[in-house]
Amino acid sequence: MTEYVPPPVDRRLPTEEARDLMALVRELAEREIRPPAAEEEEAGRFPRALFTLLSESGLLSLPYASEFGGGDQPYEVYLQVLEELAAARLTVGLGVSVHTLACHALAGYGTKEQRAEHLPAMLGGGLLGAYCLSEPAAGSDAASLTTRATRSGDVWTIEGTKAWTTHGGIADFYTVLARTGGSGPHGITAFLVPGDAEGLTAARPERKMGMKGSPTAQLHFDGVRVSDARRIGEEGQGFSIALSALDSGRLGIAACAIGVAQAALDEALAYTAGRRQFGRPIADFQGLRFMLAELATQVEAGRALYLSAARLRDAGLPFAKEAAMAKLFCTDTAMRVTTDAVQLLGGYGYTADFPVERYMREAKVLQIVEGTNQIQRMVIARHLAGPESH
Ligand SMILES: Cc1cc2nc3c(=O)[nH]c(=O)nc-3n(C[C@H](O)[C@H](O)[C@H](O)COP(=O)(O)OP(=O)(O)OC[C@H]3O[C@@H](n4cnc5c(N)ncnc54)[C@H](O)[C@@H]3O)c2cc1C
Repeated sequence: MTEYVPPPVDRRLPTEEARDLMALVRELAEREIRPPAAEEEEAGRFPRALFTLLSESGLLSLPYASEFGGGDQPYEVYLQVLEELAAARLTVGLGVSVHTLACHALAGYGTKEQRAEHLPAMLGGGLLGAYCLSEPAAGSDAASLTTRATRSGDVWTIEGTKAWTTHGGIADFYTVLARTGGSGPHGITAFLVPGDAEGLTAARPERKMGMKGSPTAQLHFDGVRVSDARRIGEEGQGFSIALSALDSGRLGIAACAIGVAQAALDEALAYTAGRRQFGRPIADFQGLRFMLAELATQVEAGRALYLSAARLRDAGLPFAKEAAMAKLFCTDTAMRVTTDAVQLLGGYGYTADFPVERYMREAKVLQIVEGTNQIQRMVIARHLAGPESH
């Protein structure tokens, strides 16, 4: 295994506070996150204690308001923190992004009382969140979900199965989208469900290609009862809440993708500088130099694209199209850079002695989660050309 520690990315951060934050994150990443990553991923171990540390250090609440224990950081800064965490270990970067996504509904649409009651613990009290939209038969067509919540007096009873839940089975709270009305997007409502709710069980985690340290599981809701005080937003508003969460969440996925791509590029640069063939470092060969130049350009372009979308969001401007573009471009970039990084390391790249094969397996999932890249193209096209006519 290499002991290589990559050089810091040259970032333009807006404040001294953000620069201090980034230095802290890099230090934490190099000390606690990167060193055990390969072994823990192979063993399929989720770093739960690390997430408690991240929570207590304020790193699970960065983009939320300080009124409820958030870090008050602009997305521009939060996303670069995610990028650093994902570069050290995707399970951690993506886990922070999913936790942030799970807090989005309550922070954005909860009543003042709900926020005061739940948010401080969710943002900084050591809790871990998860987001339940997908179902076995409702993936890209999420508005067709069938998990149902039925009201009786002040209590809702939830029945159904959610699929692919990141942190499924280990989360302390779940933001759940369930059908409370008729078919289609307007019949869906959001709920905040505690992880220990009676009737809530998780299936065995999926056996995945990568990110084995991050549990992904089906969740069964078998008569799970929650009070109406845990309904988030209006009845029927759930799908628009879910989509608004995903606009922001996609920026998180884009940032994670650039983190993985940067890590693969750094590894390829270090290896090609040291590996000699034909009496010279292989980084001397123009065929490889041009490849490295291409990859570095893609990574910088992806970073610029997600940051430009983040700055729109920070300015209170529409950013959904740009978030979809950033998710599409950055995750395709991660796939390309990690695949080429394996090539640049030759046979060693194909072994678990170097991290690039793991990065390649990890990059793949980023083209699928939070809307596949086909769905991102549909979102972008709708912004450009209006809805499809069928
Ligand atoms: C590791 C992992 C973690 C996840 N975490 C979560 C989570 O925490 N919470 C959550 O709710 N979900 C989560 N998901 C689910 C994820 O969001 C879905 O897998 C994704 O939305 C795609 O749904 P699907 O898998 O059912 O694929 P499908 O929707 O069945 O798609 C299959 C293929 O058809 C394509 N396709 C579908 N419709 C169209 C169309 N109209 N035009 C063109 N192509 C189309 C897709 O792009 C894809 O290539 C996770 C998934 C994975 C793998």
